[in-house]
Amino acid sequence: MSSFGRDLPKSIEDLMVRNISTECPYCGDTVALLPQCKPLSDLYDYSYFVALCPNYKRHHCKPIFAVYQSLNDYITERYPIPTFDASTMHEAIPYAIRQDYAEARRCLYVNAYKGAITLLRRVVEAVSCDRLGEKSKDKNGRTKRLNDLINLMLAEGLITKDLSDSAHEIRLFGNYGAHVQDDGLDTVERDEALDAREITWQILYTVYVAPYKTKELALKRQKKSEG
Ligand SMILES: [Zn+2]
Repeated sequence: MSSFGRDLPKSIEDLMVRNISTECPYCGDTVALLPQCKPLSDLYDYSYFVALCPNYKRHHCKPIFAVYQSLNDYITERYPIPTFDASTMHEAIPYAIRQDYAEARRCLYVNAYKGAITLLRRVVEAVSCDRLGEKSKDKNGRTKRLNDLINLMLAEGLITKDLSDSAHEIRLFGNYGAHVQDDGLDTVERDEALDAREITWQILYTVYVAPYKTKELALKRQKKSEG
């Protein structure tokens, strides 16, 4: 706990000595906010203020509305909510998969953990189908169960054992059975949703981004040795 608990900031100067770093919704950088007005505080531990991102001239970042909690000495919320646009993600990842992942991130931003997990599970399934191609289908042409898809990804050497174990953890959430109470989503917590996002990003990175970068490096080396 910080030494600022119950000690609410009363002025801009007061705010400046607190931990008011956050992700800017416009440029995406993690920045120390520049408060532009005196904070308004409520009866609890929350203070509200308008701030600028230090990059606002360079990146045209607009003013941010921030909520600071003195008890934990950090920014709990900031508005507007970032868009996490699929078009800003790495081009090596198929666009439809980027869209699902971006939407999962938007869910996380508004604490919609069930929605986030459901979308992340969908991403894992889509990655498997994309990379396994025909192998992702059973003999009737239907997509195999996610359990089998993850095992196949491992067997085909597309992911490591560690990553397949992690993928199974995501699979076990939102595992639609006959009954809604069996899908594991009732008790999903913030930490679990954040872990699931981290794992999903590792899968995307391993399957798409890393091979793409390796190929680019090899091409550069080739050009150099030719020149
Ligand atoms: Zn910014």
